[in-house]
Amino acid sequence: MKAIVVEPPTRGVTVKDININISTLANDEVLIKTIATGICGTDRGIVSGLLKFSRPPVGKKELILGHEGLGQVIELGSEVKGLRKGDYVVPIVRRGCGKCSNCLVGRQDFCETGEFVEAGIRGLDGFMREYFIDKERYLVKIPDEIRDIAVLLEPLSNVVKAYNELMFCQRRMIWWCNDGSYNCRNVAIIGSGPIGNLFAMIFISQGFNVYILNKRDPSPTESFIAEKIGATFINTLKGLTLTKLDLIVDTSGHPMAFIPLINKLNKNGAVILFGTTGEEYATLTADLVTFLVENNILIFGSVNASKEDFENGVNFLSIWKSRFQTVLNKMITKVVKPDESESILTKKPAGEIKTIISWV
Ligand SMILES: [Zn+2]
Repeated sequence: MKAIVVEPPTRGVTVKDININISTLANDEVLIKTIATGICGTDRGIVSGLLKFSRPPVGKKELILGHEGLGQVIELGSEVKGLRKGDYVVPIVRRGCGKCSNCLVGRQDFCETGEFVEAGIRGLDGFMREYFIDKERYLVKIPDEIRDIAVLLEPLSNVVKAYNELMFCQRRMIWWCNDGSYNCRNVAIIGSGPIGNLFAMIFISQGFNVYILNKRDPSPTESFIAEKIGATFINTLKGLTLTKLDLIVDTSGHPMAFIPLINKLNKNGAVILFGTTGEEYATLTADLVTFLVENNILIFGSVNASKEDFENGVNFLSIWKSRFQTVLNKMITKVVKPDESESILTKKPAGEIKTIISWV
């Protein structure tokens, strides 16, 4: 079958025919035909050779790329109860270490040993191939109504996790407004890529005021999305008039993008760090430490997601299907075939929000 293959940490990517046995299924396994796979910064980081933690499965030289998958069930093992042939499914990415308490209860996103594997990223083949076999426990069933946008579920699941962590931590005091909603709370989201836009949608859905920040003017698509969901796009190079923030979500990974904003936070505010990048230095001053202490500022990083976060993501996509349909469709800025994927995985196309590979 056709597959998109890398050899981490070596730079480069190849579309090639691989030989994988898909004729026998264990009792708890499912054979899935791939429908679509999303491309994100992690994939391009692996292809560029810069993501040092990427590695092939043990004993292999090659890794099949792809962690944002959507597929359709073709065959079922004899003990699979919750799925039928023809069902659409999204596979979760991380598989636990089998040792730590969190992994043993399905919260491998909080693995404590670091001995987990992640499909298409480290130690486990991914979903950029025509077919794959997976265990039922790692598959999230997708209602037919959202199959056209379900390729966004994996990135959304990470956003759902971070949102839930924030709301859990903010129960340390009363954070809602005097009418019981969150409409007095201002959220600044740094970055207007797919993750930034999904964060914007989730906070808008929950009643927050949302500002999407970038250091340039919005593209026509970004303008459309911000206007349609009810967020405000701000080009920070033209000056930032926002003075009262309650939350900063950084999707850029650049310390210099969010550190200068921290002193605009109200008391009991929070910072979610989601993006990662390399080679940038920033100074943490004693004045800023004092500000963080004196104002009860919460800062946390968040990575990956649980199966429950995927399930909650399905619920959000089902609601957004009617509320944000045109926005979700516009977020998929390009669809390519597997044979066209080498160049698209090497270089981000201009104006991209989300590029997907169609396997059908
Ligand atoms: Zn673990």
